[in-house]
Amino acid sequence: MPKIYFIDVTNRDGVQTANLGLSKLEKTMINIYLNQMGIFQSEFGFPTTRHESLYLQANLELASMGVLQPIRLEGWIRATVADVEEAFELVPALRHLNISISTSEQMIQGKFRGGKSKDDVLKMMVEALEAAWSAGAETVGVNAEDASRTDIDFLVSFARAAKEHGAHRFRYCDTLGYDNPFTIYETVKVLAENAKIPIEIHCHGDLGMAVANSLAGAKGAVDGGQDTYINTTLNGIGERAGNADLFATVLAVTKSKGFSEKYQLGNPIDLSKSWQVAKFASYAFEVPIPMNQPGVGANAFAHASGIHADGVLKDPHNYELYGFDELGRGDPELVETGREICTGEYSGISGFKHLMGKMAVTFSDMEEARKILELVRYANVEAQKPLVEDELLFIAKYPQIAKKILTLRPLE
Ligand SMILES: [Zn+2]
Repeated sequence: MPKIYFIDVTNRDGVQTANLGLSKLEKTMINIYLNQMGIFQSEFGFPTTRHESLYLQANLELASMGVLQPIRLEGWIRATVADVEEAFELVPALRHLNISISTSEQMIQGKFRGGKSKDDVLKMMVEALEAAWSAGAETVGVNAEDASRTDIDFLVSFARAAKEHGAHRFRYCDTLGYDNPFTIYETVKVLAENAKIPIEIHCHGDLGMAVANSLAGAKGAVDGGQDTYINTTLNGIGERAGNADLFATVLAVTKSKGFSEKYQLGNPIDLSKSWQVAKFASYAFEVPIPMNQPGVGANAFAHASGIHADGVLKDPHNYELYGFDELGRGDPELVETGREICTGEYSGISGFKHLMGKMAVTFSDMEEARKILELVRYANVEAQKPLVEDELLFIAKYPQIAKKILTLRPLE
């Protein structure tokens, strides 16, 4: 039976969202959390964007050190030979790629303005794919942008051509959130049966159906005989109305009525960090978690009305589908209500040593402490808000990697 995997695209789709963003250290922490949870792959950034180069290189170093293992770190680029060549020039250790090109009539006409035909699009994709193999790529996914508004025959030819030229996956992008569960199921099943290639499901929430569509698309792929890779983001952050939320989608796959009897995860996903990771993403993006967010919202396990409260006290299963402890909730959280020492870009050594001491981090000498403090200051310049404990611990543990992540060299 084919299986369901997850590819998180927070560090690509999430950060390209209007009005928000992440520091390179925050992106790194997200890769670490995704790896700890058992997510198959992180779309960790843009290899042709120069301010990403050192962050991407440093994260690939973390992978080679075993810190970011077994997760795959994959870069997203346009499907052009020039982008492939530039990606490997700027990030030579890159091994996993997703290459993207528009396939719908609307976008081919609307973006290329008559300058490209469907055949040209197919040819560009194949040339980019061949260039990726020559450059040393180990796995490549091919993305059909606006797939849901693309003629199905062309989509099948496109996916077949990708497979024939060695692509590992085809990404079905419902770029505008246009599909519904019925249409995406049918389309993806046809694609799986006819192109015979594993299918990524990439859904957006413009009509409020990103999670439902992801589930239906995954079912279509599996019923069509292919493995499937659902694309998600943390807290559903993504272009416009956002992407499918990681935790909500994992919950839907594993807890919804009868689904997991037939449609199963390829590897287990540990949800016990959900609470911490959702809160980190919310802090990093500076976007609050809606109180009615599945699993991690403030009200997800709150009961007030008499009948519900009485029922849940007698047996939680009366009014809860799953336990809060599965998501890592339930521990008391300490909030400082008196004096507070936190980090900033102008922090000094005394406050810093106090803060690190509270986390049981000690330094061999003053020089080492000053070196780590300097890195922490730079991290604050990027984040413009106090670092969380995990970020401070990361910098203290991997100062050389942190230095690389924090280095920006414009116009070089
Ligand atoms: Zn997207």
